[in-house]
Amino acid sequence: MAIQTTDRARRMKRLASSRAVTDILRLAENPDVISLAGGLPDPSVFPLDRIRESMDRVWRDQGREALNYGPNPGFSKLRDWIAERTGRNETLDLESDDILVTSGGVEALNLVAMSLLDEDDTVLVEAPTYMVALHVFRAYGARIEAVPIDDEGLDPDALDSKLRELDRVGRKPRLMYVIPSYQNPSGRTWTEGRRRKVVELAHTHDVLLVEDHAYAELTYDGPRPPSLKSLSPENVVLIHTFSKIFGPGVRLGWVVAEPFFIGQLGLCKLGTDQCANTLAQRLVYEYAIQGQIDAQVAASIQIYRRKRDLMEAAMKKHFPRETAWALPSGGFFIWVRLPEHVDSEALLLRAIDEQKTAFVAGPPFFHDGSGKNFLRLSFSFVPEAMIEEGIARVGKVLA
Ligand code: PMP
Repeated sequence: MAIQTTDRARRMKRLASSRAVTDILRLAENPDVISLAGGLPDPSVFPLDRIRESMDRVWRDQGREALNYGPNPGFSKLRDWIAERTGRNETLDLESDDILVTSGGVEALNLVAMSLLDEDDTVLVEAPTYMVALHVFRAYGARIEAVPIDDEGLDPDALDSKLRELDRVGRKPRLMYVIPSYQNPSGRTWTEGRRRKVVELAHTHDVLLVEDHAYAELTYDGPRPPSLKSLSPENVVLIHTFSKIFGPGVRLGWVVAEPFFIGQLGLCKLGTDQCANTLAQRLVYEYAIQGQIDAQVAASIQIYRRKRDLMEAAMKKHFPRETAWALPSGGFFIWVRLPEHVDSEALLLRAIDEQKTAFVAGPPFFHDGSGKNFLRLSFSFVPEAMIEEGIARVGKVLA
């Protein structure tokens, strides 16, 4: 039997808009195109020789375990290591039981949604936010509500009014998903003041915060503000990933939460993959205990800071005066505001077709498809030598 559109689950219709984005990104994979679209790490940050030494040790000493199933919440030594390091970095008192190792941050989001959301439950997000998070919440049939961010982060007054408005109609949000540090897509980092206000509001209205820490370690200027988790350990679930501090190919991330909730997430995980990739977990652990993760983060920061600065310098030279952006102090992205009447989706098609260059248009990052006059540039993956040419081409389309 051939599966027809009419046979699909209702959720497939809700997910259709994500497909449009991947279709366009596929056009950007043409080798003639200079892509400033995808948020991939720079391949030069992977220290292949050191990683091979760790891989050799795993293979030699633990090959048979590494090819077998592992414990549902993760390889115990890796959980211990994550608990110790996250505890130290975020000034939290953590045990191994507070950690679930996942197949990347995306699976972590999926498990959180699976365990907490019934159809029609309300979820709060930032506007804009990570498009894959919107995809996951849509898959579970959530009603998504958004609160805008500005240069200092999430707007606490807008959050307060939104929470009151929802309260009046009996729609208490099940969770609020936020990316306070070096956000994807906007590059914004919430100030410490904003963090304290949002944590307080969430506490007052009894809303669980889900904090995505994906880029938080990639800090280019100055100290980074405290995590929400460190400000309110009980009311925040933290999601982190090895994708930007090691490599996304291992597909490993983790959740920090209290042991009961970790158990609930583990139950959901029985239906996704039972346990995260055992070989990858043992590799990352061997690499990590040599101090290599911290060394890799330090080296990555140098590379990305330089690429960010090159991209901004090129933007100053090639972009029309009517465009605006804020220099991100970490992460992978520069978020550009265009004049109100400009349609970034139409511009993107022209950029690919006429200038052989690509970025991501604004609307997929907004729950309601608004944000037409924004675009996201990524400086992480494009080779340094092609940054200026890529920006000059985008500049031509903008002009
Ligand atoms: N959160 C955000 C904000 C991201 O940008 C990403 C990666 N693009 C992730 C989570 C998760 O990625 P992964 O599944 O590779 O850990």
